[in-house]
Amino acid sequence: MIQILNATAVHNRDAYGAALKTALSARDLTANISSDIPGDQVDYIIYAPNGTITDFTPFTNCKAVLSTWAGVDKITSNQTLTQPLTRMVDDGLKFGMVEWVSAHVLRYHLGIDAQIVNPDHIWDQTTPPLACERAVTILGLGELGQACGQMLAQLGFNVTGWSRSQKNIDNITCLFGPDGLKQALATAEILVLLLPNTPQTDGLINADRLAQLPRGAFLLNPGRGPLIDDAALIEALDRGHLAHATLDVFRIEPLPQDDPFWSHPKVTVTAHVASETRVNTAVEVLADNIKRSEAGQSLNFLVDRDLGY
Ligand code: NAP
Repeated sequence: MIQILNATAVHNRDAYGAALKTALSARDLTANISSDIPGDQVDYIIYAPNGTITDFTPFTNCKAVLSTWAGVDKITSNQTLTQPLTRMVDDGLKFGMVEWVSAHVLRYHLGIDAQIVNPDHIWDQTTPPLACERAVTILGLGELGQACGQMLAQLGFNVTGWSRSQKNIDNITCLFGPDGLKQALATAEILVLLLPNTPQTDGLINADRLAQLPRGAFLLNPGRGPLIDDAALIEALDRGHLAHATLDVFRIEPLPQDDPFWSHPKVTVTAHVASETRVNTAVEVLADNIKRSEAGQSLNFLVDRDLGY
């Protein structure tokens, strides 16, 4: 019988255990799924960074560590991890991110705040531009960046995306490399960060790059906190170069009570809720990968430890 260590967060461990059992049995696989299995007997680990495992050395026969999170930055630097690592690519996660990004882009695009908070009861009939007159740039054209880009393009926005490798994607102007980044920033009326946190992306959005954005640009960060130089962002907001930022992820989470982002008038803080992996769709991805591995096939969504994502 396959031995699967359930090392997800305590609050949804039971849900993962039950749903994964069903998903595996639909694939004619039987497994013991438990949070307590002797290390050398474990075949697979279902892992979440907010679970309990930090030392992977006891798992000497483990065939793969399957992360339930898309972002694997909390585990890629773990020197005890020698087993293959996969990350989560899940429809629930994707649709959640598409909704969060679309909602916040539309908030900025339509100037919705001025209608919700209108203490002087101003009858403002200014016509907002159409989406086709608005340029949105997404840094990161992976599973989530592409899905958000397609939805924004469907709404009519001019979507530009930037990635490490060169891409050709319908409806999205694709750029890459340092020159591509300059071009992507120069046109970004609304900038969306959907990059992973790696040594190469740490502090990418610094003072110089913020200055390359058009004056009055908006910033959305549902990617990872370290992508941004926080002090440079506050400075750019204070001098009016950036109009507003919505931040979902931070260098320290939960965001400390005394962090200036909480009270900054040009910042909206959301509590790392842009999108969460959904158990019912994620277990299908996990079960597929376990089935592939048991059949001697390569794992889907393997993390490149050198690239860090
Ligand atoms: P992904 O499929 O791995 O895509 C990552 C994208 O970033 C790829 O397009 C990649 O380029 C690009 N990239 C990586 N390093 C780069 C670099 N140095 N320069 C330029 N581009 C670079 O990841 P995903 O599934 O879309 O997820 C993206 C991130 O979203 C995750 O890593 C996680 O941090 C975040 N996330 C946040 C939440 C939330 O609730 N806030 C939820 C889920 C995920 P290539 O295509 O060329 O490889």
